[in-house]
Amino acid sequence: MWLTSEWLTTEVGRPANTREWSVPHVAFVPFTGFRVGEPEMLELGMTLPGLVPRAEAIGGLPALGLLTLAGMTPPPWTCSYHDAPRVTDELVDMVRARNPALVAVSALSASIHDAYDFTRRLREYGIPTIIGGLHTTAMPDEAEAHCDAVAVGDGEPIWPVILADARAGALRRRYQSRTPFNMQEAPLPRFDLLGDRVRPRMTIQTQRGCPFACEFCGASRLLGPFREKPVERIAGELARITEICPRPMIELADDNTFAGRREPQGLFDVLAESEARYFTEVDWRIGERPEILAGLAASGCVQVLIGIESILFQPAGMGAKRADLERVMNAVGAIQESGVAVIGCFIVGCDGETESSIDQLGAFLDQCPLADVQLTVQTPFPGTALHHRLKQSGRLLPERGWDRYTLFDLTYQPDNMTVRQLETSFRDLVRQTFADEPARRRAEIRRATWRRHPVLKPCS
Ligand code: SF4
Repeated sequence: MWLTSEWLTTEVGRPANTREWSVPHVAFVPFTGFRVGEPEMLELGMTLPGLVPRAEAIGGLPALGLLTLAGMTPPPWTCSYHDAPRVTDELVDMVRARNPALVAVSALSASIHDAYDFTRRLREYGIPTIIGGLHTTAMPDEAEAHCDAVAVGDGEPIWPVILADARAGALRRRYQSRTPFNMQEAPLPRFDLLGDRVRPRMTIQTQRGCPFACEFCGASRLLGPFREKPVERIAGELARITEICPRPMIELADDNTFAGRREPQGLFDVLAESEARYFTEVDWRIGERPEILAGLAASGCVQVLIGIESILFQPAGMGAKRADLERVMNAVGAIQESGVAVIGCFIVGCDGETESSIDQLGAFLDQCPLADVQLTVQTPFPGTALHHRLKQSGRLLPERGWDRYTLFDLTYQPDNMTVRQLETSFRDLVRQTFADEPARRRAEIRRATWRRHPVLKPCS
């Protein structure tokens, strides 16, 4: 009975609902998408053509965690899925109309107040709610004040218990797995719940966690250790997706694909067989692994995102990812030579950052061979070592709440600049980097890279 041995409730609270359900329904509601708080940054982002498509792609991604829980929800339960960027009367009415025995909500830090507002409105009607995800895993005490129950950590091991309690009208306040989810048991996500709406990208997960522990990263630690999903399970998910959407564009919901020890060929084979084109996040070291360079593009990979982080500063916890810039850029060159375009991701605002160091980054980005660039402000997400360090030293800005934890808003006092200086310098850098001419230059690098791609070649 793994279900009962692996879950833990820390507090037995009042039953959220005393009704017993004969045909219970669970409504899944994710609050995700791209957000920016600072008005000037928001306006800038909306006007820069290089930023808008990526924002739309992220905003349109299905919430894989909730679809996975739906996949392990047995009859007689029925399920529905309602993704919306914000809380609206329509959303509340739509969910209420399902007469759910449980509403399962997921949110990131930037959208957590939407989640709290939504669960508050549902609870006024007596509808039981549970919230999970990275934010509530890091801040369960805060979340408990806003919903009937909180899910901490991996959702899969505790989901059967949550369903049983919800059906009996006796949700407890907190559910937490004692052990990380075993990816050998990964269920098929219910992609069919997405309905007919066209999604620019579908998503699957081939691994969870990361062997490194970058100071600013929560994904690598909050949901447990690095684990890889068996290739047969991945093949099953790809088959389900291609039934719905032939030759799909897929974004792997991985923290760091290929960071483990498994030979990549099995994964490449199932991806190639699906005829999907895919995007994923990796670290630069794959550019020094011939066995990956030989099969990556042929398996359908068209683009990878690599956290280069900074050209001058090296955040703590990067482990073997720490290397000099020349070596990293040589690896980027090797990946692009193989036909896969690289988005270089940079964090602005590390300790030591100055107006001059941001100017240096701008000059580097103006001439570097990256096929695309992503710029973010360092963000101390709850649960990260960075959050802990800045909080301990009194550098978090208390007036800037979770809705500013967007990756584009400053939420802490920089050590070498004023808040205003860093905000202005970051905006200037974004304006410079995503202006027409550099955007055109990178588009040309992408086209040249994809002309070498073995699968894309005939139509490029
Ligand atoms: S390499 Fe990426 S996923 Fe891994 S800890 Fe660092 S930022 Fe997180």
